[in-house]
Order: sequence, then C-alpha cells, then structure tokens
Amino acid sequence: MRRKRTQAQDRLTKMKKLLLLLPLVCLLDCYAGSVKPLLNRPEFKAENEPIRTLRIFLITDDSYRKDEIEKFVSKCSDLIEMQVGIRLEIVDGYEIKWEDELDDIIKMEIRIARETWSKRDQFDIALTFVHFAFNVAGGKLPLGATDTFFWRYLFVRELDPYILLHELFHAFLFNRGHSEEWVMRGGRPAYGNEWYWLTPKDRKEVLRSKWRDFNIMPAIEEEEERKSRESWFYYKVGLAYLQKREFDEAILLLNRSLETNPKYAAAYETRGVIYSRREQYDQAISDFNKALEIDPSLAEAYFNQGRAHYFKKEYDKSWEDIRKAQDLGYKIPAEFLDDLRRASGKNRSTLSVPQDKGSSK
Ligand SMILES: [Zn+2]
Repeated sequence: MRRKRTQAQDRLTKMKKLLLLLPLVCLLDCYAGSVKPLLNRPEFKAENEPIRTLRIFLITDDSYRKDEIEKFVSKCSDLIEMQVGIRLEIVDGYEIKWEDELDDIIKMEIRIARETWSKRDQFDIALTFVHFAFNVAGGKLPLGATDTFFWRYLFVRELDPYILLHELFHAFLFNRGHSEEWVMRGGRPAYGNEWYWLTPKDRKEVLRSKWRDFNIMPAIEEEEERKSRESWFYYKVGLAYLQKREFDEAILLLNRSLETNPKYAAAYETRGVIYSRREQYDQAISDFNKALEIDPSLAEAYFNQGRAHYFKKEYDKSWEDIRKAQDLGYKIPAEFLDDLRRASGKNRSTLSVPQDKGSSK
C-alpha cells in the first residue's frame, strides 16, 4: 500500500517536473535560431565588449509624447546592448513641423539630413518618430525606414522595439537585405510579440561594423555607383538648402557633389543659379557653361545663362542663349522677353550662330 502510494507520488512528481519543463523547453524552442538563448553565456557577453554608446539625435513631431519616446528608446537600448554591446544615448534633438514630405521617404531623409547637417559630427544616428504616409510597392505601409546613403537617418512609425531594432541593425548591416527570421525579417510577424533578436549570423555582421563612422558613406557597392549615389545625395541636400535660401551651405554641398562626380551637369546648373542669385554672374555663366558642355540638352541652363548675360548687359549673348533654349522647347517667361527687348533694343536674336561645336569650347 505504502509502496503503491510512493509509486503514485513518484509518478506525480515526475509529471510535475515534466509540466515544469514543458514551458521552459517551449521557450527555448521558440527562440531557437536567435541569439536569445545565448545572452547569458560568458563568452557571448565577452564578445559584446567594449560597449559602444551611439549618440542619438532625436526628432519628434506630435505623434508621441516625449517621455513615452524616451522610455521606449531606453528599453530598446537595453535590448540592443544585450545582443551586441551597443547603447543608445539621446544627446540632442528638436521638434519638427512637417510640410509636404510625409508621403515621400527620400524627401523626409533629405530634410532631416539638411536640418542636422551642421551638427553631423556631434551625433551618430538621427532618429525620427513620425506617422509617415508613404507606400511601398503593393500599397504596403512600412513600419520604419533607413536611408541608404549614410545609413544613419532612421524613421520609426510605432513604439514597437521590433521596428527600432530592425532599422538600427540595418544601419550596421547595410544593404544585406533581410533574414528569414527574427528581428531582421522583412515584416513584423502577426503572432508573438518578441521579435527583438538577431540571428547569430546577423549578430556577427553587426559586430563587424560596430565601430563604423556614421559620417562616412559605407562602401557597399561598385566604386562608380557609390560615387554617383554620394554625389546625388549631396546635390539633393544642397537643393534643400537652396530652397531655404541658405546659399552658402547650398554651395558647400554642391561643391562636395561635384568633387565626388565632376560630370554632374545638374549640380553645375544649380550652383550657377545660386551664383546668379548672389549676382556673381561670371561664376554663374561658367557653371552654366560646364553644365551645357556635359549635357547640351539642358534648356533651362541656356535660359539661366541668358538671364546672367542679360544682367551683365551682354544682350547679344543673352539673345543667343534664349534662342537655344527656345530651340530646345523651353518656354521663356514673357516678362523676361519684354525686359530683354527693351534693354537690347532688339526684337529677337539677329545673330546667325554657326553650328560649329569645335569652336564653342
Ligand atoms: Zn528592413
């Protein structure tokens, strides 16, 4: 009898043990393939040393309260530090008032780049919390985004660590795309709520670029392609400065664009426009010339050059440019034609311009 009871008790204890074990086994299984079960191993922790503190430039609109965001960032920081020894620290920031950028991620990136450009040495990641409205192919609304130039301008739509961690790890993995599983999978899974973990393979890659300099565009493609992307980026940020009428900064950015790609006609043309606005007509004309040497189909560059010649009172040259712009289908504003007619005392270009390309250099 007693023995029987013991057997029954034994069985019960065994079952209890099994029951206790079950959820544990399940947990381990659930995280299999991610770094989660490895976090407490001494060798894993050792690989995360030394800790890197990322300086975060925080940009908010009225999507979330500031204290909510700070709490969220701190939670994410813990989750990142556990995995790769990277910590987030908010060092600066401002509140943004969006204009028409919210349905165009490139516009948003360029705007943030321009607005943080003068402080670019003082932070690593510009982190923007925003309910953006751009769609990707298929009409899907992304949860977050990262620029693909410096890999440092991050956008987060919801206070879900999956999103911030995903975008942040992109900034260390560059264009490696997505993994099938865990935090680097392409979309948030509908089930479960802890998709915060890297796979060991992804972690290794993050650790490889852990100490990257965020002011340097990572070389992840062919040199030529990288240069043209870099040059395009500086050009776009320069344009954004121009739109804000901050001409000095705009010129610096365009210079940078042209250093990277000296064959960038649009950058010459834009710089010419700025020189014109500053009434530096010789420099303007020189830039329009360079733009047209590279791309003779830039009708607007002819028009802009014509205006610069007009302000220099070089009316014949101005008419010549205007005629070329018109030949290319450019519609010259009526007021400008009136001004040019009045100033030059002519009705239109009377010069016959030889079509000799060799002598125009
Ligand atoms: Zn992604």
